[in-house]
Amino acid sequence: MTKESPVLSLRGMNKQFGEGCSRCIEKPENLEKNYCPNCGTVYACRDISFDLYKGEIIGIVGESGSGKSTLMRSLYFDSEVTDGEYLLADYKDGQENVFGSSLQQQKWIRNMLLGMVYQNPLLGLRMEFSSIANIAEKMIAANHRNVEAMFSRGHELLDKVNIPTFRSSEAPKNFSGGMQQRVQIAKALSNNPPVLLLDEVTTGLDLSVQADVLDLIKTIQRELRISMIVVSHDLAVIRMLSDRTIVMYNGEIIEEGLTDQVLEDPQHAYTQQLVYSLL
Ligand code: ADP
Ligand code: MG
Repeated sequence: MTKESPVLSLRGMNKQFGEGCSRCIEKPENLEKNYCPNCGTVYACRDISFDLYKGEIIGIVGESGSGKSTLMRSLYFDSEVTDGEYLLADYKDGQENVFGSSLQQQKWIRNMLLGMVYQNPLLGLRMEFSSIANIAEKMIAANHRNVEAMFSRGHELLDKVNIPTFRSSEAPKNFSGGMQQRVQIAKALSNNPPVLLLDEVTTGLDLSVQADVLDLIKTIQRELRISMIVVSHDLAVIRMLSDRTIVMYNGEIIEEGLTDQVLEDPQHAYTQQLVYSLL
């Protein structure tokens, strides 16, 4: 069987906040969790590697502070990594490490090849602008200029995420948390990216609203065959959405596998604790 090549491939990604000192660089066992008590350096992501395939949803689960958001922000070029290799099949045939690409190229990749939904909608939306203008903004960044076409695409997207057309000129600040996440999803999808990044999208929402948003994500994935990385501290969310699961702990991947496998036979003590707390 020939294996198709990944749409996104990450190898040996590290992100640290701080320079490190002789104590933590030479002896990582001196760290307290991901933190060096001597120099204050935080090793937020350590040697992260994985492949994402077409139409697949990878779930990343881990407790607060385990490095999930740092990883997502790095993939979306919100912050610079310390080192690592990041390849995208749709960019130069996956031959260039885009962590080393110019800022201008990274901006292009962000607009054309990636969509991001943040836990905090304030990071992803302009709360004072209309919802349709929020979507148009990402399309303009991708060099769309035809206003009528952008409006019609914007309405189509808002419809897809179940925001009624008559509310499209309203600003997200008037919307409920669940609706704000829907507008973020519509915006993230606007340029048909091959990869969608979702960071704790349902955290903080009421359970019924959470279920609706999760349903929406599943539907979009089925219809568009888009690849997704879904991050949550909540294994129940990951179980519902993801084909494969990666478990992060103190900035490292401690376990990964098919979601069913990880749930049925967790290997690492931390994963076992997560799984048993679901039962
Ligand atoms: P998660 O999303 O899994 O809760 P984060 O990626 O937000 O975790 O954080 C991982 C670690 O990196 C935490 O210890 C956090 O305190 C630290 N961290 C995140 N951003 C910064 C920053 N800008 N400066 C210093 N430390 C940071
Ligand atoms: Mg986070």
